[in-house]
Amino acid sequence: MIERHGRSLALDAVRAGIDRLRTTAAVFEPAAFFGDCERLLERDSRPGLLPVLNLTGTVLHTNLGRAWAAPEAIEAVMAVMGQPSNLEFDLATGRRGERDSHVEKLLCRITGAEAATLVNNNAAAVLLTLTALAARREVIVSRGELIEIGGAFRMPDIMSRAGCKLREVGTTNRTHGRDYEEAIGRSTAALMRVHPSNYQVEGFTSTVDTRTLAGIAHAHELPMLEDLGSGSLVDLAPYGLPHEPTPQESLADGADVVTFSGDKLLGGPQAGLIVGRKALIDRIRKCPLKRALRLDKMTIAALEATLRLYLDPDRLRQRLPALRLLTRPREDIHACAIRLKPAFAAALGERATVEVVECSSQIGSGSLPVDRLPSAALSIRFASRGGSLDRLAARLRALPRPVVGRIHDNALLLDLRCLEADGEAVLLAQLPLLAG
Ligand SMILES: *Cc1c(COP(=O)(O)O)cnc(C)c1O
Repeated sequence: MIERHGRSLALDAVRAGIDRLRTTAAVFEPAAFFGDCERLLERDSRPGLLPVLNLTGTVLHTNLGRAWAAPEAIEAVMAVMGQPSNLEFDLATGRRGERDSHVEKLLCRITGAEAATLVNNNAAAVLLTLTALAARREVIVSRGELIEIGGAFRMPDIMSRAGCKLREVGTTNRTHGRDYEEAIGRSTAALMRVHPSNYQVEGFTSTVDTRTLAGIAHAHELPMLEDLGSGSLVDLAPYGLPHEPTPQESLADGADVVTFSGDKLLGGPQAGLIVGRKALIDRIRKCPLKRALRLDKMTIAALEATLRLYLDPDRLRQRLPALRLLTRPREDIHACAIRLKPAFAAALGERATVEVVECSSQIGSGSLPVDRLPSAALSIRFASRGGSLDRLAARLRALPRPVVGRIHDNALLLDLRCLEADGEAVLLAQLPLLAG
């Protein structure tokens, strides 16, 4: 135990074992005693943050870490983690450099922006942009766009935290250009559009598009801000996915500052990307809050490597895991289900019925909430009193590589969209632990 875990932890485990013996008044039996201590020690030394197998069917699952990194990004992170780097050092001049500089040119090239800056996540990007450009003044937003996204990010609350006044216009389902125009006054700092990421208003609706809103803003010499949320950097339609507005489209339509996430459809690390007109980005960068929200070197390394993949669009689908998983052919997923079915049936025994079923995955992270991707799953059911789905789900989560599925209609569904070859091997290797 000392060799594996060190003296201090081993001693703690033995003391805890002795305490347990005292309270239970059990007989001291050396082999059993040290076996227990060692199990306890193993359990406590398992890391808290672990890789899991995401079989929920939600690809960019916020609770399961959203996008996973391309190998290129992982390598880039490892390279800067364990040694010094030129994070804020200009190798050409030998003087102090800018940490955003490693990514800014790439982002400008991909999106067509004049300038770009980076923060910790998109919530921070919105907060910083509003603080820098609109503190103590009004920002006009449609009532149809006052979103709340998971984890209590509410647009009205962010506005007040940023010290600006939210001026709501229009109604939940319909907002017109004249609504914005009539609200513009002396204290207006900006007009803003927010992507309603996780809901859709259907029926008798009307919104003002980016181009029209930018036109209104510019006629009054005001900036137009757009929070895209996910903001895919490529048009997803050619990949057979629903179209999601891109930052390049927003900028081309006249938006002055556009914010979006790094770990949603972009497929990179958690980050908030702010792109737009140079004069405004400079003001955002100089805001004191920027220092508190800045990115870490590992994130910058991962983001730079991920963005580089976008320079080669022909191979993007293969190299970027988020895009590869979202576009994975149904037949491929189905074949994986057929391969896994016998192993599951064997591990679970006769009380369980294991079937291959059609199902729908979703993109996740509030992207395109109503669109569904055809997929395949293993469906596990128990005959009445044969076993508990909740207990099986808990046992799958307790495996060395935890497996997370979802329970639907009295079946445990394991959507195999996000299970690629390496994950499949891991899953098969640990299935025997479920038996018994
Ligand atoms: C996801 C999202 C955010 C927050 O982004 P994080 O990167 O999760 O902080 C903000 N606005 C919109 C519209 C979003 O969809």
